[in-house]
Amino acid sequence: MTFPYSPTTALIVVDLQNDFVTGSLAVPGAESLIPDVVLEVRRARRAGAQIVFTQDWHPEQTPHYDEWPVHCVQGTEGAKLHPDIAFECLLSDYVVRKGQGQEDGYSAFEDPALPYILREARTAVVIGLAGGHCVASTAVDAALPHRYQDTTYGLEEVFMPLHLTRFVETNVDEIAEHVSRLVESGVRILP
Ligand SMILES: [Zn+2]
Repeated sequence: MTFPYSPTTALIVVDLQNDFVTGSLAVPGAESLIPDVVLEVRRARRAGAQIVFTQDWHPEQTPHYDEWPVHCVQGTEGAKLHPDIAFECLLSDYVVRKGQGQEDGYSAFEDPALPYILREARTAVVIGLAGGHCVASTAVDAALPHRYQDTTYGLEEVFMPLHLTRFVETNVDEIAEHVSRLVESGVRILP
């Protein structure tokens, strides 16, 4: 399906960083995802949609590495956006750097200003890596209202197109579990 982007749509491109594509925590199939994401970003931009990129941006030591191999350490090559994605990221695009302290940083909404940044958007499309973790957490949070300063912000609909994400898990049942959790949280799954 081709998503109907408009100036009231936000495209959130999650963690397309070297470590997740080819590095220490490479997600299966991530490299094959890049060209499709590039096309999606260009389509969204042409339609006047707002584009947000996220990066895992961890310190050298964090309890997050009890669960995962060391990845996306602040300022390293592995933490950089994949070159093809970096090429699409303009100075005017908002970039969220998450997990900067001792927290996991799964959701882009860890950045308290993001709801305000997205204030003109009615719908959001969340894509990238990895489907069951940072993309899922960001999509679930995007479907919830958030308070920033004295105002509550909320999106009307949040979409997650499965062809524009990849999962760490290769087991079909595990992926299906993620998907049903997302649906229960109000995220609209697209093929
Ligand atoms: Zn991480």
